Amino acid sequence: MRQKNMHSLRVYLYIIALGVGIFLLSLLLFSKPTPVYEEKEVPVLGTIVRVKVAGDKVSSNVLLNTAEQELYRIHNKFSPNVESSVVHKLNTDGRVEVDEEALFLFQAAYNYAVITGGAFDPTVRPLLKLWGFDDINSQKKVPTQEEINKALENVDYRFIKVDEKNREISLLKDGVEVDLGGIAKGYAIDLVIQKIKGIDPEATGFVDAGGDIGIIGPKFGELPWVIGIRDPFSQDALKSIDTIYLTSGAVVTSGDYERFFTEDGKKYHHIIDPEDGYPARNASSVTVIAEKAMIADVFSTALFVLGYDNPALDYFTDFGIQAFVISPAGESVQTKGFDYFREKM
Ligand code: ADP
Ligand code: MG
Repeated sequence: MRQKNMHSLRVYLYIIALGVGIFLLSLLLFSKPTPVYEEKEVPVLGTIVRVKVAGDKVSSNVLLNTAEQELYRIHNKFSPNVESSVVHKLNTDGRVEVDEEALFLFQAAYNYAVITGGAFDPTVRPLLKLWGFDDINSQKKVPTQEEINKALENVDYRFIKVDEKNREISLLKDGVEVDLGGIAKGYAIDLVIQKIKGIDPEATGFVDAGGDIGIIGPKFGELPWVIGIRDPFSQDALKSIDTIYLTSGAVVTSGDYERFFTEDGKKYHHIIDPEDGYPARNASSVTVIAEKAMIADVFSTALFVLGYDNPALDYFTDFGIQAFVISPAGESVQTKGFDYFREKM
Protein backbone atom coordinates (compact mmCIF):
# COMPACT_ATOMS: atom_id res chain seq x y z
CA MET A 1 0.00 0.00 0.00
CA ARG A 2 2.79 2.36 1.06
CA GLN A 3 4.83 1.46 -1.98
CA LYS A 4 1.93 2.17 -4.26
CA ASN A 5 1.59 5.63 -2.71
CA MET A 6 5.31 6.32 -3.22
CA HIS A 7 5.00 5.27 -6.82
CA SER A 8 2.09 7.60 -7.60
CA LEU A 9 3.90 10.44 -5.82
CA ARG A 10 6.89 9.91 -8.08
CA VAL A 11 4.70 9.88 -11.19
CA TYR A 12 3.05 13.02 -9.91
CA LEU A 13 6.44 14.76 -9.44
CA TYR A 14 7.54 13.69 -12.92
CA ILE A 15 4.43 15.26 -14.44
CA ILE A 16 5.01 18.52 -12.56
CA ALA A 17 8.68 18.61 -13.61
CA LEU A 18 7.67 17.98 -17.22
CA GLY A 19 5.05 20.78 -17.00
CA VAL A 20 7.57 23.24 -15.60
CA GLY A 21 10.05 22.24 -18.31
CA ILE A 22 7.54 22.78 -21.10
CA PHE A 23 6.55 26.11 -19.55
CA LEU A 24 10.16 27.34 -19.41
CA LEU A 25 10.87 26.13 -22.93
CA SER A 26 7.81 27.92 -24.34
CA LEU A 27 8.84 31.11 -22.47
CA LEU A 28 12.18 30.86 -24.20
CA LEU A 29 10.65 30.18 -27.61
CA PHE A 30 7.71 32.60 -27.59
CA SER A 31 8.79 35.53 -25.43
CA LYS A 32 10.16 38.55 -27.30
CA PRO A 33 13.74 39.61 -26.72
CA THR A 34 14.19 42.99 -25.00
CA PRO A 35 14.21 45.70 -27.71
CA VAL A 36 17.67 47.03 -28.53
CA TYR A 37 17.76 50.81 -28.93
CA GLU A 38 20.00 52.46 -31.49
CA GLU A 39 20.57 56.23 -31.85
CA LYS A 40 21.51 58.67 -34.57
CA GLU A 41 22.06 62.44 -34.53
CA VAL A 42 21.25 64.47 -37.64
CA PRO A 43 22.21 68.17 -37.89
CA VAL A 44 19.19 69.74 -39.63
CA LEU A 45 16.59 72.50 -39.20
CA GLY A 46 18.89 74.68 -37.11
CA THR A 47 19.36 72.02 -34.43
CA ILE A 48 20.60 68.48 -33.88
CA VAL A 49 17.83 65.92 -34.22
CA ARG A 50 18.36 62.77 -32.16
CA VAL A 51 16.41 59.68 -33.12
CA LYS A 52 16.36 56.73 -30.71
CA VAL A 53 14.55 53.67 -31.95
CA ALA A 54 14.20 49.93 -31.47
CA GLY A 55 12.73 48.02 -34.38
CA ASP A 56 10.30 45.15 -33.95
CA LYS A 57 10.19 43.56 -37.41
CA VAL A 58 12.88 45.72 -39.01
CA SER A 59 16.41 46.39 -37.75
CA SER A 60 16.83 49.60 -35.76
CA ASN A 61 19.57 50.80 -38.12
CA VAL A 62 17.33 50.55 -41.17
CA LEU A 63 14.76 52.69 -39.33
CA LEU A 64 17.46 55.22 -38.36
CA ASN A 65 18.58 55.55 -41.99
CA THR A 66 14.99 56.13 -43.09
CA ALA A 67 14.64 58.82 -40.40
CA GLU A 68 17.87 60.51 -41.49
CA GLN A 69 16.82 60.62 -45.15
CA GLU A 70 13.44 62.06 -44.25
CA LEU A 71 15.03 64.76 -42.06
CA TYR A 72 17.43 65.90 -44.80
CA ARG A 73 14.60 65.88 -47.33
CA ILE A 74 12.43 68.17 -45.16
CA HIS A 75 15.39 70.41 -44.31
CA ASN A 76 16.29 70.86 -48.00
CA LYS A 77 12.70 71.44 -49.01
CA PHE A 78 11.71 74.02 -46.37
CA SER A 79 14.81 75.77 -45.02
CA PRO A 80 14.82 79.40 -46.27
CA ASN A 81 18.64 79.21 -46.32
CA VAL A 82 18.77 76.32 -48.81
CA GLU A 83 18.70 77.78 -52.32
CA SER A 84 16.70 74.95 -53.85
CA SER A 85 13.97 75.07 -51.16
CA VAL A 86 10.40 76.17 -51.86
CA VAL A 87 10.68 78.80 -49.12
CA HIS A 88 13.82 80.30 -50.69
CA LYS A 89 12.07 80.39 -54.06
CA LEU A 90 9.02 82.06 -52.55
CA ASN A 91 11.17 84.68 -50.81
CA THR A 92 13.19 85.51 -53.94
CA ASP A 93 10.49 85.26 -56.64
CA GLY A 94 7.47 86.33 -54.59
CA ARG A 95 5.61 83.25 -55.73
CA VAL A 96 6.09 79.50 -55.96
CA GLU A 97 4.18 76.52 -57.25
CA VAL A 98 3.93 73.82 -54.62
CA ASP A 99 3.18 70.12 -54.29
CA GLU A 100 0.59 68.72 -51.93
CA GLU A 101 2.98 68.50 -48.98
CA ALA A 102 4.22 72.09 -49.24
CA LEU A 103 0.64 73.29 -49.75
CA PHE A 104 -0.31 71.51 -46.52
CA LEU A 105 2.53 73.09 -44.52
CA PHE A 106 1.94 76.64 -45.83
CA GLN A 107 -1.78 76.26 -45.23
CA ALA A 108 -1.15 74.98 -41.71
CA ALA A 109 1.23 77.88 -40.97
CA TYR A 110 -1.30 80.40 -42.29
CA ASN A 111 -4.20 78.89 -40.35
CA TYR A 112 -2.24 78.81 -37.08
CA ALA A 113 -1.34 82.45 -37.61
CA VAL A 114 -5.08 83.20 -37.86
CA ILE A 115 -5.91 81.06 -34.80
CA THR A 116 -3.21 82.66 -32.62
CA GLY A 117 -4.15 86.19 -33.71
CA GLY A 118 -0.74 86.58 -35.38
CA ALA A 119 1.33 85.64 -32.29
CA PHE A 120 2.62 82.84 -34.50
CA ASP A 121 3.49 84.59 -37.75
CA PRO A 122 5.54 82.92 -40.51
CA THR A 123 6.40 86.32 -42.02
CA VAL A 124 8.73 87.28 -39.11
CA ARG A 125 11.80 86.64 -41.28
CA PRO A 126 12.66 90.33 -41.94
CA LEU A 127 12.84 90.76 -38.14
CA LEU A 128 14.82 87.53 -37.65
CA LYS A 129 17.33 88.86 -40.20
CA LEU A 130 17.71 92.15 -38.32
CA TRP A 131 18.42 90.39 -35.03
CA GLY A 132 20.62 87.78 -36.74
CA PHE A 133 18.36 84.82 -35.92
CA ASP A 134 17.67 83.87 -39.56
CA ASP A 135 20.78 81.66 -39.75
CA ILE A 136 23.32 80.16 -37.32
CA ASN A 137 26.10 82.11 -39.09
CA SER A 138 24.34 85.50 -39.07
CA GLN A 139 25.79 88.39 -37.06
CA LYS A 140 23.68 88.85 -33.91
CA LYS A 141 23.02 92.47 -32.88
CA VAL A 142 20.37 94.78 -31.45
CA PRO A 143 18.83 96.69 -34.38
CA THR A 144 17.83 100.36 -34.25
CA GLN A 145 14.19 101.28 -33.65
CA GLU A 146 14.09 102.68 -37.17
CA GLU A 147 15.23 99.37 -38.64
CA ILE A 148 12.62 97.53 -36.58
CA ASN A 149 9.83 99.89 -37.66
CA LYS A 150 10.78 99.39 -41.30
CA ALA A 151 10.86 95.59 -41.00
CA LEU A 152 7.52 95.59 -39.15
CA GLU A 153 5.85 97.04 -42.27
CA ASN A 154 6.58 93.72 -43.98
CA VAL A 155 5.53 91.44 -41.13
CA ASP A 156 1.92 90.26 -41.37
CA TYR A 157 0.75 86.76 -42.28
CA ARG A 158 -2.05 88.33 -44.36
CA PHE A 159 0.63 89.21 -46.93
CA ILE A 160 0.77 85.48 -47.75
CA LYS A 161 -1.70 84.21 -50.33
CA VAL A 162 -2.39 80.49 -50.38
CA ASP A 163 -4.05 79.56 -53.66
CA GLU A 164 -5.25 76.03 -53.08
CA LYS A 165 -6.80 75.56 -56.52
CA ASN A 166 -3.72 76.52 -58.51
CA ARG A 167 -1.37 75.18 -55.82
CA GLU A 168 0.49 78.43 -55.65
CA ILE A 169 1.83 80.45 -52.72
CA SER A 170 2.53 84.12 -53.30
CA LEU A 171 3.63 87.16 -51.31
CA LEU A 172 1.41 90.20 -51.76
CA LYS A 173 4.08 92.82 -50.96
CA ASP A 174 7.72 93.42 -51.83
CA GLY A 175 10.00 92.89 -48.84
CA VAL A 176 7.83 90.22 -47.22
CA GLU A 177 9.73 87.01 -46.39
CA VAL A 178 8.64 83.72 -44.91
CA ASP A 179 10.34 81.44 -42.35
CA LEU A 180 8.67 78.18 -41.35
CA GLY A 181 11.15 77.66 -38.46
CA GLY A 182 8.36 77.75 -35.90
CA ILE A 183 6.49 74.81 -37.47
CA ALA A 184 8.94 72.80 -39.63
CA LYS A 185 10.70 71.04 -36.76
CA GLY A 186 7.43 69.71 -35.36
CA TYR A 187 6.28 68.69 -38.82
CA ALA A 188 9.59 66.85 -39.39
CA ILE A 189 9.21 64.95 -36.10
CA ASP A 190 5.68 63.83 -37.02
CA LEU A 191 6.79 62.73 -40.46
CA VAL A 192 9.78 60.75 -39.16
CA ILE A 193 7.48 58.93 -36.72
CA GLN A 194 4.96 58.29 -39.49
CA LYS A 195 7.67 56.90 -41.79
CA ILE A 196 9.12 54.62 -39.10
CA LYS A 197 5.66 53.31 -38.14
CA GLY A 198 4.85 52.78 -41.81
CA ILE A 199 7.77 50.36 -42.07
CA ASP A 200 7.58 48.85 -38.59
CA PRO A 201 4.29 49.54 -36.74
CA GLU A 202 5.54 48.13 -33.41
CA ALA A 203 8.83 50.10 -33.38
CA THR A 204 9.39 52.14 -30.20
CA GLY A 205 11.53 55.11 -29.22
CA PHE A 206 11.45 58.87 -29.71
CA VAL A 207 12.62 61.78 -31.87
CA ASP A 208 14.23 64.71 -30.05
CA ALA A 209 14.82 67.88 -32.07
CA GLY A 210 16.57 70.09 -29.55
CA GLY A 211 13.91 69.74 -26.88
CA ASP A 212 10.98 69.13 -29.22
CA ILE A 213 10.11 65.50 -28.58
CA GLY A 214 7.80 63.12 -30.40
CA ILE A 215 7.21 59.58 -29.14
CA ILE A 216 7.52 56.67 -31.59
CA GLY A 217 6.35 54.16 -29.01
CA PRO A 218 6.67 53.41 -25.27
CA LYS A 219 10.01 52.30 -23.83
CA PHE A 220 10.41 48.52 -24.20
CA GLY A 221 6.87 48.54 -25.60
CA GLU A 222 5.24 49.38 -22.27
CA LEU A 223 6.92 52.08 -20.17
CA PRO A 224 6.49 55.86 -20.49
CA TRP A 225 9.49 57.92 -21.56
CA VAL A 226 10.54 60.26 -18.76
CA ILE A 227 11.12 63.80 -20.03
CA GLY A 228 12.59 66.59 -17.93
CA ILE A 229 11.50 70.19 -18.47
CA ARG A 230 14.58 72.35 -18.32
CA ASP A 231 14.96 75.01 -15.65
CA PRO A 232 14.94 78.24 -17.71
CA PHE A 233 16.89 80.08 -14.99
CA SER A 234 19.81 77.66 -14.85
CA GLN A 235 22.90 77.63 -17.07
CA ASP A 236 22.97 73.88 -16.62
CA ALA A 237 21.14 72.37 -19.59
CA LEU A 238 20.52 69.20 -17.62
CA LYS A 239 18.84 70.85 -14.63
CA SER A 240 15.10 70.20 -14.81
CA ILE A 241 12.25 71.70 -12.85
CA ASP A 242 9.55 69.28 -13.84
CA THR A 243 9.02 65.77 -15.21
CA ILE A 244 6.63 64.59 -17.91
CA TYR A 245 5.72 60.95 -18.63
CA LEU A 246 4.68 60.12 -22.20
CA THR A 247 3.89 56.87 -24.00
CA SER A 248 2.68 58.64 -27.15
CA GLY A 249 2.24 62.14 -28.55
CA ALA A 250 4.66 65.04 -28.30
CA VAL A 251 6.08 67.59 -25.88
CA VAL A 252 7.74 70.79 -27.04
CA THR A 253 9.43 73.47 -24.96
CA SER A 254 10.24 76.96 -26.22
CA GLY A 255 12.72 78.73 -24.00
CA ASP A 256 14.63 82.01 -23.98
CA TYR A 257 17.81 79.98 -23.28
CA GLU A 258 17.84 78.09 -26.58
CA ARG A 259 19.21 80.64 -29.01
CA PHE A 260 20.23 84.03 -27.66
CA PHE A 261 22.97 86.62 -27.42
CA THR A 262 23.79 89.19 -24.76
CA GLU A 263 24.46 92.84 -25.42
CA ASP A 264 25.10 95.43 -22.70
CA GLY A 265 24.13 92.85 -20.11
CA LYS A 266 20.72 92.20 -21.68
CA LYS A 267 19.64 88.89 -23.15
CA TYR A 268 18.00 88.73 -26.60
CA HIS A 269 16.52 85.46 -27.86
CA HIS A 270 15.03 84.03 -31.04
CA ILE A 271 11.26 84.15 -30.51
CA ILE A 272 10.11 87.48 -31.87
CA ASP A 273 6.89 89.26 -30.97
CA PRO A 274 5.46 90.21 -34.41
CA GLU A 275 3.59 93.06 -32.71
CA ASP A 276 6.63 95.16 -31.69
CA GLY A 277 9.55 93.38 -33.38
CA TYR A 278 11.45 92.58 -30.15
CA PRO A 279 12.17 89.19 -28.57
CA ALA A 280 9.05 88.29 -26.59
CA ARG A 281 9.50 89.35 -22.98
CA ASN A 282 6.48 87.92 -21.19
CA ALA A 283 7.61 84.33 -20.70
CA SER A 284 10.83 82.47 -20.10
CA SER A 285 9.63 78.98 -20.95
CA VAL A 286 6.53 77.40 -22.47
CA THR A 287 5.96 73.65 -22.60
CA VAL A 288 3.18 72.28 -24.78
CA ILE A 289 1.91 68.69 -24.97
CA ALA A 290 -0.17 67.57 -27.96
CA GLU A 291 -0.89 64.48 -30.04
CA LYS A 292 1.22 65.89 -32.89
CA ALA A 293 4.63 67.59 -32.57
CA MET A 294 3.67 70.14 -35.24
CA ILE A 295 0.79 71.45 -33.16
CA ALA A 296 2.90 71.49 -29.97
CA ASP A 297 5.66 73.33 -31.85
CA VAL A 298 3.38 76.06 -33.19
CA PHE A 299 1.65 76.64 -29.89
CA SER A 300 4.86 76.67 -27.83
CA THR A 301 6.06 79.59 -29.98
CA ALA A 302 2.66 81.34 -30.03
CA LEU A 303 2.06 80.99 -26.28
CA PHE A 304 5.60 82.24 -25.64
CA VAL A 305 4.72 85.43 -27.55
CA LEU A 306 1.33 85.71 -25.81
CA GLY A 307 3.14 85.42 -22.49
CA TYR A 308 2.58 84.41 -18.90
CA ASP A 309 -0.41 86.69 -18.27
CA ASN A 310 -2.38 85.47 -21.29
CA PRO A 311 -6.01 85.32 -20.10
CA ALA A 312 -6.97 83.02 -22.99
CA LEU A 313 -4.54 80.21 -22.09
CA ASP A 314 -7.29 77.68 -21.33
CA TYR A 315 -9.07 78.52 -24.56
CA PHE A 316 -6.18 76.93 -26.48
CA THR A 317 -6.98 73.47 -25.07
CA ASP A 318 -9.73 73.45 -27.72
CA PHE A 319 -6.92 72.84 -30.21
CA GLY A 320 -5.84 69.65 -28.44
CA ILE A 321 -2.99 71.04 -26.38
CA GLN A 322 -2.02 71.31 -22.72
CA ALA A 323 0.47 74.01 -21.72
CA PHE A 324 2.76 75.01 -18.86
CA VAL A 325 4.06 78.59 -18.90
CA ILE A 326 6.84 80.02 -16.71
CA SER A 327 7.09 83.80 -16.33
CA PRO A 328 10.36 85.77 -16.37
CA ALA A 329 9.97 86.09 -12.59
CA GLY A 330 9.63 82.33 -12.13
CA GLU A 331 5.88 82.09 -11.52
CA SER A 332 3.98 79.45 -13.46
CA VAL A 333 0.53 78.88 -14.90
CA GLN A 334 -0.86 75.85 -16.65
CA THR A 335 -3.92 74.54 -18.45
CA LYS A 336 -6.31 72.30 -16.53
CA GLY A 337 -5.22 68.95 -18.02
CA PHE A 338 -1.46 69.43 -17.78
CA ASP A 339 -1.07 67.58 -14.45
CA TYR A 340 -2.19 64.36 -16.12
CA PHE A 341 1.21 64.09 -17.83
CA ARG A 342 3.12 64.56 -14.58
CA GLU A 343 1.90 61.18 -13.37
CA LYS A 344 3.38 57.84 -14.21
CA MET A 345 0.80 55.82 -16.10
P1 ADP B 1 12.92 76.49 -30.61
O1 ADP B 1 12.56 75.06 -30.57
O2 ADP B 1 14.29 76.79 -31.09
O3 ADP B 1 12.54 77.23 -29.34
P2 ADP B 1 10.56 77.52 -31.66
O4 ADP B 1 9.71 76.38 -32.04
O5 ADP B 1 10.23 78.21 -30.42
O6 ADP B 1 12.05 77.09 -31.71
O7 ADP B 1 10.51 78.55 -32.84
C1 ADP B 1 11.48 79.51 -32.98
C2 ADP B 1 11.73 79.69 -34.44
O8 ADP B 1 10.53 80.10 -35.08
C3 ADP B 1 12.72 80.80 -34.69
O9 ADP B 1 14.00 80.28 -34.84
C4 ADP B 1 12.19 81.45 -35.95
O10 ADP B 1 12.64 80.75 -37.09
C5 ADP B 1 10.72 81.27 -35.85
N1 ADP B 1 9.99 82.35 -35.14
C6 ADP B 1 10.43 83.26 -34.24
N2 ADP B 1 9.42 84.04 -33.81
C7 ADP B 1 8.31 83.58 -34.44
C8 ADP B 1 6.94 83.98 -34.42
N3 ADP B 1 6.49 84.95 -33.65
N4 ADP B 1 6.08 83.30 -35.22
C9 ADP B 1 6.51 82.29 -36.01
N5 ADP B 1 7.76 81.87 -36.07
C10 ADP B 1 8.66 82.50 -35.29
MG1 MG C 1 7.91 76.06 -31.26
